[in-house]
Amino acid sequence: MSDQFSDLKLERKECEKCGAIWINGQHIWGGTGNTGSETDLAGLVCNKLGDHRCINPMKGQDGGQTWEYRAGYIDGKIDERKRMLGELDKFADE
Ligand SMILES: [Zn+2]
Repeated sequence: MSDQFSDLKLERKECEKCGAIWINGQHIWGGTGNTGSETDLAGLVCNKLGDHRCINPMKGQDGGQTWEYRAGYIDGKIDERKRMLGELDKFADE
């Protein structure tokens, strides 16, 4: 994925602990190449996996996205759907 950048002079840093990548000081998600928030990265990865080797400057900061946040969002959607299906069952039984 570095091909598109190969003509440019750039500084690439990779966190040896969690594999996060910074290009010229901007954190990017390795999987997608999209720019990312260091706070989200901390919440999703570094606060759990990172140790003293982690180079994310936001490691240890709360306020980014977390898996709990994402899981909570998805659970909420599932509950909503279950309630809806439950309502339908009530009508079907009558
Ligand atoms: Zn890290």
